[in-house]
Amino acid sequence: MATHEDATPPDAARWSWSRDEMRAFGHRVADMVADYLADLPDGPVFRPVPPAAAEAFAAEPLPVRGLPADALLGAFEREIAPFPFGNGHPRFHGWVNSPPHVIGAMASALAAAMNPSVAGGNHAAVHLEHQVVRWFRELAGFPESSRGLLVSGGSMATLTALAVARHRVAARVDIDVRADGLQGHARRFVAYQGEDTHGCVRKAAELLGLGASNLRTVPSDERGRVRVDALREQLEQDLSDGVVPVALAASVGTVNTGAIDPLDELADLCAEHGLWLHVDGAYGAPAALLLERYADVARAIARADSLALDPHKWLYVPVDAGLVLIKDGAAARDAFSLVPPYLRTDDDPHGVNGPVWLSELGFEQTRPFRALKVGLMLRYLGTDGYRALIEHDLEMAARLVAAVRAEPELELLAHGLSIVCFRYLPAGAASGPELDALNRRLLTAVQLGGRSFLSGTVVGGAFALRACILNPGTGEAAVDALVAEVLAAAREGR
Ligand SMILES: *Cc1c(COP(=O)(O)O)cnc(C)c1O
Repeated sequence: MATHEDATPPDAARWSWSRDEMRAFGHRVADMVADYLADLPDGPVFRPVPPAAAEAFAAEPLPVRGLPADALLGAFEREIAPFPFGNGHPRFHGWVNSPPHVIGAMASALAAAMNPSVAGGNHAAVHLEHQVVRWFRELAGFPESSRGLLVSGGSMATLTALAVARHRVAARVDIDVRADGLQGHARRFVAYQGEDTHGCVRKAAELLGLGASNLRTVPSDERGRVRVDALREQLEQDLSDGVVPVALAASVGTVNTGAIDPLDELADLCAEHGLWLHVDGAYGAPAALLLERYADVARAIARADSLALDPHKWLYVPVDAGLVLIKDGAAARDAFSLVPPYLRTDDDPHGVNGPVWLSELGFEQTRPFRALKVGLMLRYLGTDGYRALIEHDLEMAARLVAAVRAEPELELLAHGLSIVCFRYLPAGAASGPELDALNRRLLTAVQLGGRSFLSGTVVGGAFALRACILNPGTGEAAVDALVAEVLAAAREGR
């Protein structure tokens, strides 16, 4: 009689693949990846999912019987691949989304084949994540005692950093925030941000129990940067009112206009009052840390308490890949570890435990193998390669700025890093709701036209067309086409 262990389950044929079957399927997938990426520039940048296709997604029932593997790939080609988000296309300049590099795409498959949990342990994925974090730590000029993690993105990086900030400041006023939360204390905890700070700071303030009404929005100057004098006034008022300041979230590259806050002066102010300085460099930090012309920004980043940087933005790593660095490594562990300090091991080089567990430094327990795609991309391009690609994106943004300036019917509204905001402003048109509405219509027309893609924002109260150049495949022709598309849509709409 067969024992339970060697009984053959009824679906064994569906579960077990031979080496040859895996190869044949994998080769087809590799072909599809190559075709997808190679054909991308020839298709529309964006096209909406047709209503009938959307209805088909909504109507398809939960599969009861499995399908043959080939059928899965056919469905991908027919129903999914034709309707991408748009990033990857050299004429896509929306939001803050870069193209994936094929190294990163293939690394994702290799990582999934190993499928480790990178919570911790003595396996290669853990060591690779520590290595990648060390590389970023060195780039950012953070000391060896810092800690860091790969996370889902800038939002999680910010939540993680602000959780550590909250933990440390609470301990200073004798509150055990892990035991008691922020309940029932007489003192108010507040955090600070700029007018253009990313919305993830607000989400974090809400989740961390500060509440959005205790997040102070400090006025910006005319270039979208936090005003140091206004922050000083607010902070000193708060301190004299007995409020507990948790952190300032400053930006190196706002999503809106690519503005860089006056980091060095902010670091001075934070140091003076013991305020935690979190730098949101989700978008802009790679440029600041790699390019000589931003060396002063890089030096100021090294003064921060924490840094968020998204490899899935300006380092062209496939989503998801965010990074958080925390200078006070002990505080990072104290804020998250469930291992009592007397049981913590830092190093178990010969055993199962390996280096410090990454799950002790953040919220996630089972953690994906993000370090492979990030690490392979860093090895493939090196900092020299990245410097050249980022430089290219900046040059294309500068070309767009020049083209907008040269065109009498366009008005430049803002330019920072690789972000350019502008609008259509025909001769004699007055600023106001009508001009905003006209530019909104233009934006939709360009987006649905499928030949170029940008997004919209509001700059200084005016609706703006916004391009963020984050694709080394975006050449001069693509930039010129964007300007031509906007003007053509304007002429057609008249
Ligand atoms: C994208 C972005 C975020 C949020 O990061 P996610 O990766 O989307 O979670 C925060 N700040 C800035 C400046 C960003 O560009």
